[in-house]
Amino acid sequence: MKKIMVTGGHGTVGYAIQQIVSREPVEGYRFIFVDIGDANLCSKTATLSLFEKVRPDGVIHLAADVGGLYKNMDHGVEMLEKNLLMNMHIMQCCKEFNVEKLVSCLSTCIFPELSLSDHIRLPIDETMIHMGPPHPSNEGYAYAKRMLDVQSRYYRKQYKQNYITLAPTNIFGPNDNFSTENSHVIPALIRKCHAAMNNGGDFVVWGSGRPLRQFIFSLDVARLFIWAYLHYDEAEPLILSPDESQEVSIATIGQYVADAFGYFKPLMFDTKYSDGQFQRTVSNRKLMERYPDFKFTPLPAAVKKAVDWYRGNFAKARL
Ligand code: GDP
Repeated sequence: MKKIMVTGGHGTVGYAIQQIVSREPVEGYRFIFVDIGDANLCSKTATLSLFEKVRPDGVIHLAADVGGLYKNMDHGVEMLEKNLLMNMHIMQCCKEFNVEKLVSCLSTCIFPELSLSDHIRLPIDETMIHMGPPHPSNEGYAYAKRMLDVQSRYYRKQYKQNYITLAPTNIFGPNDNFSTENSHVIPALIRKCHAAMNNGGDFVVWGSGRPLRQFIFSLDVARLFIWAYLHYDEAEPLILSPDESQEVSIATIGQYVADAFGYFKPLMFDTKYSDGQFQRTVSNRKLMERYPDFKFTPLPAAVKKAVDWYRGNFAKARL
């Protein structure tokens, strides 16, 4: 049986992979989930010890210093440096231990900002990743993740390593990071709506509610990572996103959260907070060509599942 080591194994996508493989085992493979308690990947020594201990045949690299808009705006240095270090050590160790495959995680938020590049048009596709600067709110994270694409292709070319990269759009789901400082928009809205339900206060969405986003359910991301490990071997990144027609405003996603909770008062919008990037519509054409049968969980149903998880697991949620 081959061993696939999943870094960031107890984060949102790691948890989702655990759920999928416990229900539908992948023949011939066993998954080992590791996190910062096993090794701090910012240290090469610690990363080497982890590889010596686990001796993986393959790696799915999900560990990252990651967060929503407001964390990105305040912690550019850490997000650049920690991600560069972790990614560097994982790539080096995968080569030193001659793993059969490394799947790394990018994000569609690292692609160029439309208003800053003459070479970009919507929808954004995989070929445009380096065609202009990212949105200024998340430069640190974006440049570190862009290097993951560059490095993966270099290792592939020079050392014939089978390194691939996947770029999901905004992920959410069970076991998300629901903290006030670091969370992405959906878990933040779930936490806030739950609190408003319990204390009778308002449900306040930050910013104008007008920005547009595509969202992907973590269980769908997990299925796609497993599929990509087994079937996607191309040097270029692959965007993981529902169709462009599934793009919604932040106000709409707030309403989905309110509906899932049965919160019936009007949503409030606090425009003191930044809106961040207005829109970054991506194309999923390449994914649908490579995996035509894949079915995404419809967004309102996925939001309901995330809300139900939060209600049922409030005591152990990452707050
Ligand atoms: P992004 O998609 O990379 O910009 O990151 P986020 O997942 O943090 O989403 C940011 C968008 O959601 C911005 O338009 C915010 O104004 C909006 N938003 C509304 N309320 C919240 C909130 O409580 N937390 C976060 N992170 N974003 C919020």
